[in-house]
Amino acid sequence: MPYEEDEETENYEEAERMSINLYIGGGGGALQRGEKKHEIVYRPSLTWTEKAAAEAEAVAAVSCSGHGRAYLDSLISYGQTVCECYTCYSGIDCSEFSPGCSADADGGDPIFLEPFWMQKAEDSAIVVSGWHRMSYSYAGYTSMSTMSLEVEKYIHKIHSIVGNAITEGRYLVFGIGSSQLLSAAVYALSSQNSSSPSNVVATIPYYPMYEAQTLFFNSEDFEFKGDTKSWKLNNATNNMDVIEFVTSPNNPDGELKTSVIGGKTIYDHAYFWPHFTPIPAPSDHDFMIFTLSKLTGHAGARFGWAVIKDKDVYEKVSTYIQVADLGISKDTQLRVLKLLKVAVEDDGKQLFKFAYDKMRQRWDRLTSVFSKSTRFSIQKRDPLHCNFFNETRLPSPAYAWVKCEREEEDNCHAVLEAGKIIGRTGSTYKAKDRYVRLSLIKSQDDFDLLMLRLTELVSLENGNIESI
Ligand code: PMP
Repeated sequence: MPYEEDEETENYEEAERMSINLYIGGGGGALQRGEKKHEIVYRPSLTWTEKAAAEAEAVAAVSCSGHGRAYLDSLISYGQTVCECYTCYSGIDCSEFSPGCSADADGGDPIFLEPFWMQKAEDSAIVVSGWHRMSYSYAGYTSMSTMSLEVEKYIHKIHSIVGNAITEGRYLVFGIGSSQLLSAAVYALSSQNSSSPSNVVATIPYYPMYEAQTLFFNSEDFEFKGDTKSWKLNNATNNMDVIEFVTSPNNPDGELKTSVIGGKTIYDHAYFWPHFTPIPAPSDHDFMIFTLSKLTGHAGARFGWAVIKDKDVYEKVSTYIQVADLGISKDTQLRVLKLLKVAVEDDGKQLFKFAYDKMRQRWDRLTSVFSKSTRFSIQKRDPLHCNFFNETRLPSPAYAWVKCEREEEDNCHAVLEAGKIIGRTGSTYKAKDRYVRLSLIKSQDDFDLLMLRLTELVSLENGNIESI
């Protein structure tokens, strides 16, 4: 947009007016042209935020017996906010437990971090005015910008604190969750030559979204070709165009993976945070994808980012995001900023210590149950040095990858289901159904019930009683 004197004068006057309304103290006197106020001095009493603050506190005070949650946008019935109860709990205040209920270890909702954010209620709350960033873009006269520079700054900061990725001198692109960036990545890396579409591959067991998206978007420029190892075997002499998804740590088994084919790669680092894995070294790949969902646990905010080395690839990813939705929500970015500010507090020690301790405790309980079983096993975990915690420790993956060891039990999901445990079938990840994925990152209620059901199942085995 060209420089407009009138508008600038108007902005300047507006800023001066706002400074009287919003700031007190800070040296006094009117703003000089070009001078910006950085110091925020809070008024002793609030005005227009009071009502919103009272509403937020009132809904947070609805206890739902600790087995559910009430939110500002929950249903209202007879003037009361309706509790949203966790699985196996019901009733007006979620106090009724269904005794025969199955443990739900399906899905990847990272609710294990909710208690951290409740501890950080004061630091992580935001108030959003009715006029907050109504524009499509952030103010900037040179280009249309849909990404908050301040959020970018904090993303660089969290990576440099954790030491899990090199981001300086790299391009960042935000997406609606990392999910959106997965398909943007395939688009950007594809040959864009329909006569020889790019081959998209991943290593079994792989996250099913890669295949689902590639099929769904049904482009002439790329095709999903399944497992890397079979692909390599069948195309050893072919110099074909390949895009490989490398999920590290892997969903479902938590392994730190590297590329099999060694060509164009998309490193999906959704779980590359100290709560799930020791951080051996910063990742420095051409295309890396991260998500807030598994960093802070805010899957509902739908925010992910790509770290890209190559300018052309970056431009294609940006185009994808602009064409798909003209950038991502400014409200989300505001929330992300606040959450990242808390995440980097104390150099990340608070968030990552809380998250790692929680995951380690869950793994300790889990391994203790599985150590008593010969019928079921879980993935082997090898210790590694973690540069963030500066010690050698075991990984604590988000999911247990359970194997039914008995020859005849080749449908492990059904075996567990009979024991009142809902997992996700191995074939979802193109592995055998002898495997099942159990989520360890859900709420404490979900995890406690999972432990109860697993203990029951394993104790049946030890009493030599068949459960099915
Ligand atoms: N990659 C992997 C490996 C995942 O497990 C997930 C979510 N479970 C995602 C990407 C997508 O996460 P989101 O869209 O919430 O960022």
